[in-house]
Amino acid sequence: MSSDAQHRGLVLVVEDEPAIADLVRLYLTRDGFGVHVERDGIAGLAAAQRLRPVACVLDIALPGLAGTEVCRRLRESGDWTPVIFLTARDDEVDRIVGLELGADDYVTKPFSPRELVARVRAVLRRSTGTPNGADRPRTAGPISLDPSRRSVTVDGAPVHLTTTEFDLLAYLMSRPGRVFTREELLASVWGYAAHSGTRTVDVHVAQVRAKLGPAAAEWIRTHRGVGYACVG
Ligand code: CA
Repeated sequence: MSSDAQHRGLVLVVEDEPAIADLVRLYLTRDGFGVHVERDGIAGLAAAQRLRPVACVLDIALPGLAGTEVCRRLRESGDWTPVIFLTARDDEVDRIVGLELGADDYVTKPFSPRELVARVRAVLRRSTGTPNGADRPRTAGPISLDPSRRSVTVDGAPVHLTTTEFDLLAYLMSRPGRVFTREELLASVWGYAAHSGTRTVDVHVAQVRAKLGPAAAEWIRTHRGVGYACVG
């Protein structure tokens, strides 16, 4: 197993199916990432803590410790490394995002390795840059967001958002009152084409609202059949 980080950084892949792990390794390596593979959750968690990867790709069903539990333990220890889950079933998606694990993205098996690589790149682009190059602090009612510090507070109390959740909220707050369609949000925040499916937008908006709390969540409005807007 090579753990040589190349110029894009090291990605930890925890996947117990060798054929999938090999394919993911091949495509990530070709794209310039260093790749370290583990085949069970316990070794995966230890590797995440030891190697400090730039991103983790976690299968859900793993021997030893489920991928969701690996993520939960990383988050509990204050580690917010971007995590992309590999799920075997489409109906797991709501559950995964709803677990408040701080997952940044997911792909459903069978997946295209190119698509996975694109998502790893997208999540890293989001976690290292400020959305739209605009880094002035923004407010909406009780919510304050500071892009340069990547921090969010509600009535002065810090709220911990994942990279994706932060970028989604920052984007909505960048133009108060403007209604963004799900397709626009998918393209601008995730960097995906609309055919990737827009349900991911809905589940992440729900997650942002849950973290902001009921009072602050009122500032993110749903426009039925259209999309979402932040009240200015
Ligand atoms: Ca598995």
